[in-house]
Amino acid sequence: MTIPFDDKLHEECGVFGVFGHEDAGALTALGLHALQHRGQEAAGIVTFDGGQFVSERHVGLVGDIFGKEGHTQNLRGANAIGHVRYSTTGGSIVRNVQPMFADLSGGGLAIAHNGNLTNARILRRDLVREGAIFQSTSDTEAIIHLAARSHYEFVVEKLIDALKKVEGAYSLVALTSKKLIGVRDSYGVRPLVLGKLDGAWILSSETCALDIIGADFVRDVEPGEMVVITVDGIESLHPFPPKPRRFCVFEYVYFARPDSVVEGKNVYEVRKRIGMELAREAPAAADMVIPVPDSGVPAALGYAAASGLPFELGIIRNHYVGRTFIEPSDRIRHLGVKLKHNANREMLEGKRIVLVDDSIVRGTTSQKIVEMVRDAGATEVHFRIASPPTTHSCFYGVDTPNKEDLLAHRLDLEGMRNFIKADSLAFVSIGGLYRATGEARRNAGLPQFCDACFSGDYPIEPTDTGEFRRQLSLLAEVV
Ligand code: SF4
Repeated sequence: MTIPFDDKLHEECGVFGVFGHEDAGALTALGLHALQHRGQEAAGIVTFDGGQFVSERHVGLVGDIFGKEGHTQNLRGANAIGHVRYSTTGGSIVRNVQPMFADLSGGGLAIAHNGNLTNARILRRDLVREGAIFQSTSDTEAIIHLAARSHYEFVVEKLIDALKKVEGAYSLVALTSKKLIGVRDSYGVRPLVLGKLDGAWILSSETCALDIIGADFVRDVEPGEMVVITVDGIESLHPFPPKPRRFCVFEYVYFARPDSVVEGKNVYEVRKRIGMELAREAPAAADMVIPVPDSGVPAALGYAAASGLPFELGIIRNHYVGRTFIEPSDRIRHLGVKLKHNANREMLEGKRIVLVDDSIVRGTTSQKIVEMVRDAGATEVHFRIASPPTTHSCFYGVDTPNKEDLLAHRLDLEGMRNFIKADSLAFVSIGGLYRATGEARRNAGLPQFCDACFSGDYPIEPTDTGEFRRQLSLLAEVV
């Protein structure tokens, strides 16, 4: 039996690429290290050494994989792409670890993908019927098969042809023998940035990975843009029909690292402003503001600043636990949450607490944290959440439970407060969240972000769900 340590939505992947640097493999390992928060199950790097593609793909953490003798040294060549994975589609078996690679008629192609294809099951069914033999259960492999079947001559054209057939969210990096390619879907759901280091080009999910290797941020890759980097420089293509921008607002709430600048905004600053909005919308008569570390810290700082209440570290986080723990015995199951968080009793005893966290998913961890704070002597616990209630699942590259398991889908505000056993409970409004980002919601008739997990307003039809999923599951029995 494994104990999950947190009750969060999890980003599925992070991607990184280098073109034109003699240490491309090692730089990519460092970049993936900075992107580790986007996926902790597996990591991989593919390089091109001038004659052939070299690949290292393993299950585990980046430091464990690429800290090993030989793994980084094998990755010769000036061009590389890499991937960290936390998977919902396909499980964490080695053959699902990215980057994926295939020899196409126009040359080799390696792909690393962050996002989720919303028509992957239907594409896979059709490809299998046409004779494709899938090596993995990952949706990314469908892109490779589509590219392999394209009648275009060159690999870049084949990749464009393939991407025209997929639906959903993708920010991907791809490597050929002569090119590094970065591309975002037309809605721009997932981030991808361009940087430069000593004349080499860098692609990364987030700017924190540029910082770690000393690269300069150049710009975001635009929604719907494909950048093709060669020894002659960079070419910007816009091969897909334009769509309204719908960047994932949850990147600001939780996914992205606080030191990243995402779509022109510093994530830490946005999180702090969300806390300020929360303090204005949902004040509480209390003695101090306590974050649920680490993800609740910036919003709690904002809440404290706007409310005038002192900020204190009343809960201490153990940074040396993974995402889950194999419990040694049933009798100590209830200790699970304490392995990650422990109350600072001296701080909490006799105090009225505002407890700030970034989100509530199933509510199970929140319930235990409130109980822990009370056991440590807090007289009142006012729980404040730095995102609106999460009522819907994500289909765009984020691990979410079915919506029936989301606390905010099952219960109204009072029901949730009761479940968590807090004295009061409040979430920042969607309007407050947008104000914190500096953008007004639906001002120009369309939202500027995807906020579907709070609103149910899905920018991209989840083709593989609902009627389509039922239809496919019937058909799946015959393919
Ligand atoms: Fe982000 Fe939209 Fe997914 Fe929510 S539904 S996590 S806002 S992409």
